[in-house]
Amino acid sequence: MREGWIPLECQSCNEQWEENPSDLPPRRTDFVCPHCETTRPIDEFVATQEGLKILDNFHA
Ligand SMILES: [Zn+2]
Repeated sequence: MREGWIPLECQSCNEQWEENPSDLPPRRTDFVCPHCETTRPIDEFVATQEGLKILDNFHA
């Protein structure tokens, strides 16, 4: 995994991908899956605790 990139996983379409934290909203904000257009809080897309930490640090 590239440093500073966040692994994402969609629970609706099971797609897995990575995003730069600058392209993601703060936690508890709705995010639209670019693959199936399901809307969920960003927290539910972030696949790892490490990813959540990176997102928190970015938006701190
Ligand atoms: Zn999806």
